Amino acid sequence: MLDVTNDVVLSLRNVEVAFPLRKGFFAKPGLLRAVNDVSLDVRRGEFISIVGESGCGKSTLVKTLLGLQPATAGTISINGKDLGDYSRKELAHQVQPIFQDPYSSLNPRKSVAANIALPLILSEGLKPSQVRDRVLEIMEMVSLPTRLEHTYPSQMSGGQRQRVAIARALITRPKILICDEPTSALDVSVQAQILNLLRDLSRRLNLTSVFISHDLSVVRHLTQRVAVMYLGRVVELGESEHIFRTPRHPYTQLLIRSILPPDPEHRLPPVAWDGGGPDPTNPPSGCHFNTRCPYATDICRIERPPMVEAEGVRVACHAWSDPEAWRAANGEIPQLS
Ligand code: SF4
Repeated sequence: MLDVTNDVVLSLRNVEVAFPLRKGFFAKPGLLRAVNDVSLDVRRGEFISIVGESGCGKSTLVKTLLGLQPATAGTISINGKDLGDYSRKELAHQVQPIFQDPYSSLNPRKSVAANIALPLILSEGLKPSQVRDRVLEIMEMVSLPTRLEHTYPSQMSGGQRQRVAIARALITRPKILICDEPTSALDVSVQAQILNLLRDLSRRLNLTSVFISHDLSVVRHLTQRVAVMYLGRVVELGESEHIFRTPRHPYTQLLIRSILPPDPEHRLPPVAWDGGGPDPTNPPSGCHFNTRCPYATDICRIERPPMVEAEGVRVACHAWSDPEAWRAANGEIPQLS
């Protein structure tokens, strides 16, 4: 087990990231809320996943956590200090990213050592010999042979390039790693190695890791908590074990169902998996999931469900806001079991 404490390292309160939209010259300007009222506390040493389909707001949230995209409302703090109050150099020692495609995130004109050293050179005034010592130390930590220090990214395999990207993220000894789909561009066999490496490093360095993925099968054995996002909102949040064993929100059920083996007896609930969702620039009123949810009722189309505690997880679904009333009016609460 990772050494998780109760210290909150990363705290999001009612974070919104919205972009102005104009669909035509004469059209009224609209607003795309890519991240909508997200609140989350991440504890020191924790490995938490944020999952959801593409377009759910995960990537925008990553940019915001890295200070690359300002939030339009709400607050983000790291170790109790507002994200906006950190200088670029200070932030480099707090949080570092690992992106999806190691090839495009590395500079092809620079050697492995130069790529790894870049954040250190930007943030600290170390002598070249000190920088090289740190680079070689980190290369060993991520199991990259130090003889590769003078090679270039194009001469490496995808797995080696991702190890370079991880080494570069670790070189400033950050407290938080933001891993944005770090294995989705890799072969399946290499994915497992990189996931194991990330888990081992998190444990050894007591890092706090936020892992972004669209694939629940990847995060299942990796993370302690899961936050499920749908159209910019967190709809379910809880311990991995709970979420995978008894998902409460119909959307989480849909995601989990997609990674289960086929169900010949059709015992699973009839959630429609159409591979797409509503237009994020014009989301449904009430619960954003109501156009795809087989359990939707009138209230779902009118009122946004609040986030409530439901048997060990937090979930935003009217069925769980008042389970007795829901059962009386609509029958059994949606379950995947
Ligand atoms: Fe389905 Fe209604 Fe729950 Fe939304 S609030 S997930 S529409 S049952």
